[in-house]
Amino acid sequence: MKVLVLNCGSSSVKFQLIETSPELAAGAQDRRLARGSVERIGEASVPDHEQAIRLALASLTDPQQGAIRQLEEIQAVGHRMVHGGEHFRESVVIDQAVLKAIEECVPLAPLHNPHNLTGYFASRRLLPNARHVAVFDTAFHQTLPPKAYTYGLPHALAARYRLRRYGFHGTSHRYLMLRFAQIHGSAPAAHRLITCHLGNGCSMCAIENGRSVDCSLGFTPLEGLLMGTRTGDIDAAAVLHLMGWEKLSLERMDALLNKESGLYGISGISNDVRTLLEEARAGNPRARLALEVFCYRIQKYIGAYYAVLGGADAVIFSAGIGENAPAIRAAVCDPLDALGIRLDSAKNEAAVGLEMDISAAEARTRVWVIPTNEELLIARDTVRCLSVG
Ligand code: ADP
Repeated sequence: MKVLVLNCGSSSVKFQLIETSPELAAGAQDRRLARGSVERIGEASVPDHEQAIRLALASLTDPQQGAIRQLEEIQAVGHRMVHGGEHFRESVVIDQAVLKAIEECVPLAPLHNPHNLTGYFASRRLLPNARHVAVFDTAFHQTLPPKAYTYGLPHALAARYRLRRYGFHGTSHRYLMLRFAQIHGSAPAAHRLITCHLGNGCSMCAIENGRSVDCSLGFTPLEGLLMGTRTGDIDAAAVLHLMGWEKLSLERMDALLNKESGLYGISGISNDVRTLLEEARAGNPRARLALEVFCYRIQKYIGAYYAVLGGADAVIFSAGIGENAPAIRAAVCDPLDALGIRLDSAKNEAAVGLEMDISAAEARTRVWVIPTNEELLIARDTVRCLSVG
C-alpha cells in the first residue's frame, strides 16, 4: 500500500510517500518513493497548509519526476499528531470521535495540534478517497505507571489541568525498540532498553516488556535533557525568580525557556552540536561547558533508567546527534563502566549514520547506534490500522 506520511508544523509540511506493509519484519517490502518538505507557510507563495499540501501532491504526481501518476494511488495518509493526551495508547483510524479527542488535546499542545488538524482537514479535501490514520507522539508513553508520570502538585489542580508527564518522541522510541528486536530476531518484550533520541529536541526512554515505563520529556517537550534551545530540567523556582526580577510576561518566559536556552543559551554561539564541537576543540570555554552539561545530563538519565529497569540490555543512540556524533557518545559512555557500558572506540568512530553495535566485546550492556525512522513506523501503523479496522 502507498501511504503518504504527513507531518504538519506551524510553518512547514514534511511528507514522505512510502510503500509498505504492516509488519516491521517485512523489511524487504518497504520502499520510500519520495520525500520532501514545503517551508514558509504563511508567506505569499504558500498562504496556508492546504496550498502546501497541494504543492506536495503536485510534486508527487509531476509527469517527469513524480513518484506516482495519479493521486488515486495514495490509498492512505498517516498523520503525525503531537498530542493524544490520555485518549490514545496507539494509532487510530481518524473518525469524528477521534477528531473530537484530538481537539480536546489542543490546550495541551497549542502550538502543535492545531496545525496537525489543519493538515488533516486539508489533506482530506485534497485526497477524498484516501483513508486517514493518526499516529501520536505521546501514545507509546501512555504505559507509564502513575509513579513515573505524576508531578508533586496538588492533586485536584493537576487533575483539572491534566498536568502530568506525557512524554513525546514516542514514535521514534518505539521504532528503536522494534528495530532492536528485529535485528536480534527476538520479541520486543525480551529486552530492557534505554533509548536516547538526540536531535533538535532530545529525550530518553526506559523500555521494559515492550513498553515505555519512563521518559524524560514531560507535560511539554521542555523537561529532561538539555536540548538545542530548551533548558530541560530546571528548578521551577528559578523560573519564578527570573519572571519576578526581570518582570517577564508568560510569553516572554516561554520563549526564553524554549527558544533561547539549552546548548544555545549556555554557549551563546549555536544550538548545533557540530559547531559547538569545533568551538570546544578550539578552546572556547562556553562551548565546552554547554557540551559538558549536555552529556552529563544524558549520563544521569542513563543511570536513573538503569535503576528503573533493574539493569539494561542496551543503550541505543539515535537522531541527528545520536547517529552522527561519536565524540558525544564517547563523552557520555566513557564514565559508565560501572554499568557495564564500554565502547569499542574504533566502532564508535565508524558509526556515523550507520546502524551498528559500538560496544566493546566484553561489555555487559550493549551500546547501539540505530538511525531512527519515524515516517516508516507511521506508514506501517497506518497500514496496520486500516487492515484491522
Ligand atoms: P530534528 O529533531 O529536527 O529531527 P535531527 O534529528 O535532524 O533534528 O537533529 C538535528 C541536530 O543534529 C542538529 O542540530 C545538530 O546539532 C545535530 N547533528 C547533525 N549532524 C551532526 C553531526 N555530524 N555531528 C554532530 N551533530 C550533528
